[in-house]
Amino acid sequence: MTPTQVLAMAKEKNIRVVDLRFMDFPGVWQHFTVPISELDESSFDDGYGFDGSSIRGWQPINASDMLVIPDASTAKIDPFYEEPTLVLIGNIFDPLTREAYTRDPRNIAKKAEMYLKSTGVGDVAYFGPEAEFFIFDDVRFESSKNGAFYQVDSVEGSWNTGREECPNLAYKPRHKEGYFPVPPTDKFQDIRTEMLLTLEDLGIDVECQHHEVATAGQAEIDMRFKPLVQMGDQLVWFKYILKNVACKHGHTVTFMPKPLFEDNGTGMHTHISIWKGGKPLFAGDKYAGVSQEALYAIGGILKHCKALCAFSNPTTNSYKRLVPGFEAPVNLAYSSRNRSAAIRIPMYSMSPKAKRIEFRTPDPSCNGYLAFSAMLMAVLDGIENKIEPGDPLDKDIYSLPPEELANVPSAPGSLEEALSALEEDNEFLMKGDVFTKDVVEKWIEYKTEKEINAVKLRPHPHEFFLYFDI
Ligand code: GLN
Ligand code: MG
Ligand code: MG
Ligand code: MG
Repeated sequence: MTPTQVLAMAKEKNIRVVDLRFMDFPGVWQHFTVPISELDESSFDDGYGFDGSSIRGWQPINASDMLVIPDASTAKIDPFYEEPTLVLIGNIFDPLTREAYTRDPRNIAKKAEMYLKSTGVGDVAYFGPEAEFFIFDDVRFESSKNGAFYQVDSVEGSWNTGREECPNLAYKPRHKEGYFPVPPTDKFQDIRTEMLLTLEDLGIDVECQHHEVATAGQAEIDMRFKPLVQMGDQLVWFKYILKNVACKHGHTVTFMPKPLFEDNGTGMHTHISIWKGGKPLFAGDKYAGVSQEALYAIGGILKHCKALCAFSNPTTNSYKRLVPGFEAPVNLAYSSRNRSAAIRIPMYSMSPKAKRIEFRTPDPSCNGYLAFSAMLMAVLDGIENKIEPGDPLDKDIYSLPPEELANVPSAPGSLEEALSALEEDNEFLMKGDVFTKDVVEKWIEYKTEKEINAVKLRPHPHEFFLYFDI
């Protein structure tokens, strides 16, 4: 849609309010609302002012005036507000220089798409994230002074934790068997379908929805692949819709990567492909029906994986998921049909159009714009520098003896490790000025101070179990 079309649509639908939204640095959607009288053609050039110092990781107080300029092509009507409301996603600009803000994640994603075109490697990169999530009916966490109380409850309950439920109507998924018996074991069919239909109503194509492996209400809804920036936008809508549908029904949704100990975590496997001149660049006659470029792309991801994790797995909780035995990858290897490898080449279809690589390490605690951009930069580095991925590892990697794993690198064991890898290995992100030095430095500083140190300083609930009676 153009600005003129957006204004016409607003008039036709009798819209009286406009919600302006943008993504903050860590990955939470922000918004403020203006009356429709404040939106005209010039708004799409001049934008709206806001306080950039109150947004996490952005501006200092002495340079806090920032602009959000709406992108007309993102117009949608909000499905939850009582008052019909036009939503526009915006790009962030510095009002003095009129330049796009370097710490705006959407700006980074736009630059990554431009960089792809400038390399001549391809015209478009497609991203298909499989974002998993948990539906809980009650999550209580009290960061009381001693941080002692912590509890997660689910509607389905579980056999193994012995949690009390009234009434206990049974038909609960057995441990790690949530994938995927029909109701009444599956308690969430209706709510997942409502999520799916709300996504479709907003023009977001969905491929399927299902219960996932974890016992307590784990779910997955897959969107159809789209170009990078568009998928960045869709992923924010996706999280917004899922959380709000759940809220409406008295439930809550979390994209936290590992909410439950000893059960499957929450991944966001990401399918990646590049097309050039209307042809799929990753289809060919090499291993598993992929092209040499696809193998180089895999080489790029494996080479930069540890640094990449700083954006694709950016929380302290992310690394509680990347442990053996829960279908989450630990070792940085590739293979076809193999869910224990970090990169899988799906073998469901041999059609060249369907050829893609599935990077299984990411999780949905990431900021989609940043994570997809970093993935694309690693892929392009692999292709441009012809980085060989080595041999595939077509075995159950979880059960390999340590000798066989000696030469297979593993994913970072902590956010700290991922950030140190990023500190050492960030040249590939800087090409085309996509990620700037400032963004990488600020990311490391923000994540270290606000998350790693904050978590380290607080007594952990399990410390009470271990030490309270000492
Ligand atoms: N939940 C698993 C993960 O953490 C994936 C399970 C699956 O989709 N096969 O990646
Ligand atoms: Mg899936
Ligand atoms: Mg899954
Ligand atoms: Mg998958």
